[in-house]
Amino acid sequence: MKLVIFDMDGTLTDGFAFEENIYVRTFAQAFNLPDVRIEWASYPHTSSSYCLEAVLRERCARTATPEDSRTVQRVMIELMADIQRRTGRCTREIPGAAAALRELRRRGYAVAVASGDWEATARHKFATAGIPFDDLPSAFCDVAHARTEIMQTALARAAAHHGRAAFDRITYVGDAPWDVRACRELGWPLVAIGQDDQATHLHSLGVAQVLPHYLDLDAFLRAVEQATSPRATESNLPS
Ligand SMILES: [Mg+2]
Repeated sequence: MKLVIFDMDGTLTDGFAFEENIYVRTFAQAFNLPDVRIEWASYPHTSSSYCLEAVLRERCARTATPEDSRTVQRVMIELMADIQRRTGRCTREIPGAAAALRELRRRGYAVAVASGDWEATARHKFATAGIPFDDLPSAFCDVAHARTEIMQTALARAAAHHGRAAFDRITYVGDAPWDVRACRELGWPLVAIGQDDQATHLHSLGVAQVLPHYLDLDAFLRAVEQATSPRATESNLPS
């Protein structure tokens, strides 16, 4: 049995939360911290839990408590739901994503999710975007800050879910430089989802398989089979 593990933001779901500045607005509302700067690419760990730690350390000189984490997640979901109520704008799937998940499972692949978001906010995004998620093994930043650790937890949960010690092949589907770095560290094949400049950038980081979306399902299934672990390149990956 082969396993395909998906990132969420930018891979299965679009950038609604980022375009609407949900993180910045959440920190302003939850902690009375206006104009928080969030520089995902500069963080050693690209996850929402690490982002919360980084912001509270920089702006409040303290670490995040479990209560902070719960508050941030609740405010984020409220903000996203409020924008949807008022404007109709909301998280959408990357075109063809839900159909791609269904087709992989129909063909006998194991499918899992490994995302740097929290599980609660991820559930809200999946539900809003109409992506079938409930019975998928998954891991989120609730288990670790580090993406590689989240990915390995998703792998372990997928193995337990399917009653297997290992899979014949593991492919990750992601969209960002930190996904490239994590796949290189783990030696996992990567299919990247990206368009235009982002696709060019992903190619330059050594990703052979880059697709704009899932609408050409055959092309996606071929990419899953042909993907390799990203090659080392001279490009400066985020450290
Ligand atoms: Mg992503």
